[in-house]
Amino acid sequence: MNTESFVGNLLEPSMFERVARRVSERADQDPDVSWRSHASCRDTDPDLFFPVGTTGLAVTQIDEAKAVCMGCSAQVQCLEFALIANQDTGVWGGSSEEERRQLRRKYLSRRRSRL
Ligand code: SF4
Repeated sequence: MNTESFVGNLLEPSMFERVARRVSERADQDPDVSWRSHASCRDTDPDLFFPVGTTGLAVTQIDEAKAVCMGCSAQVQCLEFALIANQDTGVWGGSSEEERRQLRRKYLSRRRSRL
């Protein structure tokens, strides 16, 4: 599964619903960060995951960070954490800043429609 299809799958109702529910359930609790112990990026330069900007060299850096995420067994938990903690910078769970903004907008839109 490439990066685009992973994020695309999160936008599909079933997968997105699962993440949104888990994010909602954990929103008022201390987030579970046990997944960090088996993160693929543990031995990677942290700067790779926090590129400056979204153009030029940053695009290559984002793609390289996402490639690390694609082989990470903590990818879904990492993405959930980023959404719960409102991590608005860097690459988390194979998603870029803009992709998480899209996910958050969809998540909030669904939550509002259910109120
Ligand atoms: S999904 Fe990416 S950013 Fe998250 S723990 Fe794994 S390698 Fe690190």
